[in-house]
Amino acid sequence: MIRIGPAGSGGLGNLAGIEAVARMGLDCMEVEFTYGVRMKPEDAPAVGEMARRHHIVLSVHAPYYINLASEEPAKLSASRTRILDSCQRAHAMGARNVVFHAGFYQGRTAHETYARIRDAVNALQDRIAANRWNVVLCPETTGKPSQFGSLEELFQLTADTGCGMTVDFAHLFARHQGKLDWNHLLLQLPGMFHAHFSGIEYGPKGEKRHIRTTETFFRPLAEALVAKNPDITLISESPQPLKDAAMMKQVVQQLWDAVR
Ligand SMILES: [Zn+2]
Repeated sequence: MIRIGPAGSGGLGNLAGIEAVARMGLDCMEVEFTYGVRMKPEDAPAVGEMARRHHIVLSVHAPYYINLASEEPAKLSASRTRILDSCQRAHAMGARNVVFHAGFYQGRTAHETYARIRDAVNALQDRIAANRWNVVLCPETTGKPSQFGSLEELFQLTADTGCGMTVDFAHLFARHQGKLDWNHLLLQLPGMFHAHFSGIEYGPKGEKRHIRTTETFFRPLAEALVAKNPDITLISESPQPLKDAAMMKQVVQQLWDAVR
C-alpha cells in the first residue's frame, strides 16, 4: 500500500488541513513541529479524531533543531525533550511515526557519533515504553554527507535499537549526486517504512534545498514503487506539499490502472 500526502497543512492548520487532504483524495499528512512543539497537549485528541473520521494516517515531524550526538548536556537534553514532546503529541493524535534528523558529526568520528546517537535512541525508547506511547522513532536519511543519516547508518541503527526509519528519497538522490537506481534502492529497503519525497537542488556537498516536484522527476521512483509495492506512507515535502502530493498520487494511480 502506497499512501501519499503532504508535509504540513499548507498553512490551513491541522484540522482544516486534514479536511483538505481528504477532499483531495490523499491518504496521509505529516504534522510539522518544525520550529518547536507548539501544539498544546489538550489540542492533540481533536486532530486525531478528525484524521480518524477521514481515514487519514498521521505522522509527526519533530523540530529541526535536534542533535542527539551533542556533547553539551543542555543541547542533548533539549533534543531529547523535543523528541519526547513530539512523541507525546503523536500518541495523543494516534500518529505512529515520529520523524527527526538525528544529529551532526561536528568533528567527531562517524563511529563515535553513531554510538552517541544509538545510546540516545535506546534511552528515548525506554521513556516511550515507560509512558506506553504507541509511537515509532523514525530517524531520517539526510541530504548531506556531513550530517549523520546515510542509508547504511540508519540500517545499523534500526538493527541495533529496533527503531523505524524515514527514507527521504530526495535526500538520498542528493547524497548520491543523482546517481541512484530506485529499483536497486528499494530492494535494500524493508517491506514497511516511512518516506519523504520532493524535488531537490543539490551540489557537491549534497542537498541545497527542496523545490517543486515535477512529474518527470517523480515518475521513475513511482514506477519502482508500484513494481515493488511496499507498505509506505510517502510524504510530499515540496514548497507546495498538497499540490505536489496530488500530482504524485495521480501518477501512482495511473501506473496502478495500467498494470491492472
Ligand atoms: Zn525529509
